[in-house]
Amino acid sequence: MIDNKKINNFALSIVKDLQDNGFQAYLVGGCVRDLLCKIIPKDFDIATNATPEQIRKIFKASRIIGRRFKLVHVFNRSELIEVATFRSGENKENDGNLVTDRTGKILRDNIWGTLEQDTFRRDFTVNALYYCPVSKKIEDHNSGIKHIRDKKIVSIGDPIKRFSEDPVRSLRAIRFSNKLQFKIDSKIKDAIYKQGHLLSHISNARLFDEFCKIFLNGIAEKNFKKLESYGLNQYLILTNPNDTIFSSELIKEALRNTDKRFGENKSITPGFLIAAMLWPELIKRASKNDEINLRKFFRSMDQVLKNQQNITAIPRKFHTYIKDIWILQLKLHSRIGKQPYKTLKHPRFRAAYDFLLIREKASKCKPDLGSWWTKFQKNDPSSQKSLISNLRELTEEQSFKKFGFPEELI
Ligand code: ATP
Ligand code: MG
Repeated sequence: MIDNKKINNFALSIVKDLQDNGFQAYLVGGCVRDLLCKIIPKDFDIATNATPEQIRKIFKASRIIGRRFKLVHVFNRSELIEVATFRSGENKENDGNLVTDRTGKILRDNIWGTLEQDTFRRDFTVNALYYCPVSKKIEDHNSGIKHIRDKKIVSIGDPIKRFSEDPVRSLRAIRFSNKLQFKIDSKIKDAIYKQGHLLSHISNARLFDEFCKIFLNGIAEKNFKKLESYGLNQYLILTNPNDTIFSSELIKEALRNTDKRFGENKSITPGFLIAAMLWPELIKRASKNDEINLRKFFRSMDQVLKNQQNITAIPRKFHTYIKDIWILQLKLHSRIGKQPYKTLKHPRFRAAYDFLLIREKASKCKPDLGSWWTKFQKNDPSSQKSLISNLRELTEEQSFKKFGFPEELI
């Protein structure tokens, strides 16, 4: 059923080395599911009955990582494969290797077990398939293959309990159902409605990882809409109860733009999306009498970033990127004297210009400013000069010193 040629060679060699050393070893999870669905897997994970220390001994180039969930990274020059030891999911010794909090959330899971036991700690039946590339057999203890055939995301065990153990599973159910075009089982739907709010207890670092998986995978708009229908966007994106339709239009435009770039194999960054998601809030805070107050604008940039940080972490390197895009929005509105030349030279000009285009699209206003910049960046110096002089009637008021967006564009 699975063609071994579609499997990463390094992953195959790790499975074989583990088996040659007398251990059980399987490809597991997403890669088996994707291969059965004729999708190219993103990564290849391995599960084994060897302990992390035993794995470490077999592979010189390897490292034990994680406290909450110990596993081993085995690497060669260019690749890294995760090898996890089977977990039992229960702790009779109560020795601190399996720890949950008051709500049942798993804080640590390092009790080793058998393959059968390991299947029950996985989230969905389609993710609990174990493939041995040597015997070419699939271990399926939870009807995963049937559910792939039925195109269904089904929880292993009661989803209410499983989602309190780990609330991120509700986001994962939505992500997999869109990626695979599978239906979500009704019990899972109920559990998302009932337990979705537990996402507010998840660390911002983990939610940032999930944010990237959901919105940087080519189907961001689709994921956003489904999350919206379950009321889960608020656990990933700073939202305001008084938000206008506009802010969600701007976000959707940014998501469409990201999906399009993904399809064209162009670089994509969470920074651009976060800049769009927070822009309406920034403008709201910085506006006074329908004009942007520059002092407020600059002060509010860090505040809105901080508020988003409380939800998802935002790695440092994206802060300046996001702020550059925002500040350049002001500068793009200023087309007097030398300013347009300076703006054009800015290393973030391209991103800021793309951002302006999505603001115009979302606002459904005439794309005058965007078209002006489209021409300006392509033109030779003399045509650039005349583009600027044609704007002479612009007053200093409309430059970014004292600054107001045209009413229809935000
Ligand atoms: P993809 O890589 O396409 O996002 P995946 O299924 O491989 O999907 P990973 O996050 O790479 O997802 O995890 C690998 C496997 O580990 C999953 O298939 C699943 O069996 C298990 N797993 C991962 N996260 C969880 C979780 N939060 N709860 C239970 N099992 C999980
Ligand atoms: Mg994976």
